[in-house]
Amino acid sequence: MATSGKDGDRFDGSLLAEVDDVEAPPVGGVDLERIERAVREILFAVGEDPDREGLRETPARVARMYAELFGGLHEDPRVHLRKFFTEKYDEVVLVRDISFNSMCEHHMMPFMGKAHIGYLPGGRVVGLSKLARVVEGVARRPQVQERMTEEIARLLEEELQVKGVAVVIEAVHTCMTVRGVKKPGAICVTSAMKGAFRTRPTTRSEIMTLIYGDR
Ligand SMILES: [Zn+2]
Repeated sequence: MATSGKDGDRFDGSLLAEVDDVEAPPVGGVDLERIERAVREILFAVGEDPDREGLRETPARVARMYAELFGGLHEDPRVHLRKFFTEKYDEVVLVRDISFNSMCEHHMMPFMGKAHIGYLPGGRVVGLSKLARVVEGVARRPQVQERMTEEIARLLEEELQVKGVAVVIEAVHTCMTVRGVKKPGAICVTSAMKGAFRTRPTTRSEIMTLIYGDR
């Protein structure tokens, strides 16, 4: 698995050779060898020599990294919201500053920042760490920030039957800070408001105060 295929040092007739000839099954849904081949191609394409010492392990390393960064594609973030408990609490619950890393699907460059999730329970309450897991699951796939924001809100709306949900995400996009327009420090803010947070201005301003009030 770790050797990069065709020209690896194996001898014919060995059991390993036969195993090697078979297309490797995806690990956790991610085909590491395929990524390795692609990264090797990219290195060639930019004019590098993928066989020089410093780069020899790079394709395998990048493959393992992508398996981690895109691991969310192979899990359903809903499962974290299905372990709710029933609670009469009907005031705002807010978890603020949930940090995340994601990957911009337009450039395959990381964007990273913080998510703030507030909701008005409709009887179902979920453990606070579960919200962080939802953010993680949604973030670890090729993403755009707007969709990510909307998706988290929709998951809470559907699974917890909330009376309202507010998701605000702030992120720095490396595709904007290290290339293209090169504007370091620029932060992109997106929000998705549902239910009471959308329809009642007082509820909306309450959540915005809770998120931004003392800073
Ligand atoms: Zn981008």
